[in-house]
Amino acid sequence: TSARMFTEGVPVVVEDVRRRSPVERAELLEDPGFGRYFTDSMFVARYREGQGWYDARLTTYGPLPMDPATAALHYAQSIFEGLKAYAQPDGSVAMFRPEANAARFARSARRLAMPVVPEESFLTAVDALVDADRDWVPTGPDQTLYLRPYMLASEPFLGVRPAHEYLFLIIASPAGAYFPRGVHPVSVYVSEEYARAAPGGTGDVKCAGNYAASLLPQQEASALGCDQVVYLDAVEKKYIEELGGMNLFFVLGSGEDAELVTPELSGSLLPGITRDSLMEVARGLGLRVTERRYSLDEWRQGVAEGTVTETFACGTAAVITPVGVVKARTGDFTVGDGTPGPLTMRLREALLDIQHGRVADTHGWLHRV
Ligand code: PMP
Repeated sequence: TSARMFTEGVPVVVEDVRRRSPVERAELLEDPGFGRYFTDSMFVARYREGQGWYDARLTTYGPLPMDPATAALHYAQSIFEGLKAYAQPDGSVAMFRPEANAARFARSARRLAMPVVPEESFLTAVDALVDADRDWVPTGPDQTLYLRPYMLASEPFLGVRPAHEYLFLIIASPAGAYFPRGVHPVSVYVSEEYARAAPGGTGDVKCAGNYAASLLPQQEASALGCDQVVYLDAVEKKYIEELGGMNLFFVLGSGEDAELVTPELSGSLLPGITRDSLMEVARGLGLRVTERRYSLDEWRQGVAEGTVTETFACGTAAVITPVGVVKARTGDFTVGDGTPGPLTMRLREALLDIQHGRVADTHGWLHRV
């Protein structure tokens, strides 16, 4: 069999990886949780200015040797992606829209002045890793293999400029069902003090620093008994942007006349692949979908008047999470009766059915490995 090519002239070298026993693997897959356990292999490729990408390999998962001056540790020149592989009913494995993650990764790289991983190379690398560790794709209900591609500035140098050396890695982590005991709504805290991202900043890409800045507001939300933070636009502190790791949708009206509203891509919120997919699925179901500015006031008033019947958050990790209680300095409220709404659950099932291969993939979103 000929080697897969990462880039021209750079094959993916497949090492003899140290594998855990089937018994040990089965034990870990029984209750994998999220982000706790990692598969046997990892993908690593290196980049050097003037040379380009080189030394692509699948190797045993393990620590990276790292110089204390590694640029990424000092100035956060670091980006990542998150996508999933799903066991299919026919025994195969498929990823959901990895091309979209490859494209977003390239956008993130440009914004952080990093080299671009060509989109075909990104796909070759995730394919190679999932293929090598396909025994780690769990088959329990709603279980998946979470894939984490990332890139960091690996050059040991303390000057503030784009690094000349980078590592592109992919690790994989089996993930349990997000709601093992049934879907239940999350409570959210509207941050009227902290902003997640500002116009001209990095909010519309997936760079490490965005997440570091979200931890304090998240901690404060937790202290107030809330699961997640809702961020407003940084300029007027008025319009809803997104959660720290999920996009938001609002259901206006109900039944045949229901309209789905989601904040428009303002430049400071992340264009979620789940968000994009749900808009397409919803339109396919004949629903009206609108991307526009949507304020906290409009949300609160809509809920009070009964015109906003449901609110949900969406992202790769949870697919869809209903939003129940909303806390804010300017007043708390509860969406609907605080239980998952019918459209929320319908869209959730529709997307899960596609991802897990329970219905025909009419959109061409599954990428078989
Ligand atoms: N917003 C942010 C800030 C995120 O980190 C994520 C997760 N990638 C999302 C939204 C949802 O994006 P996706 O549907 O592509 O997972």
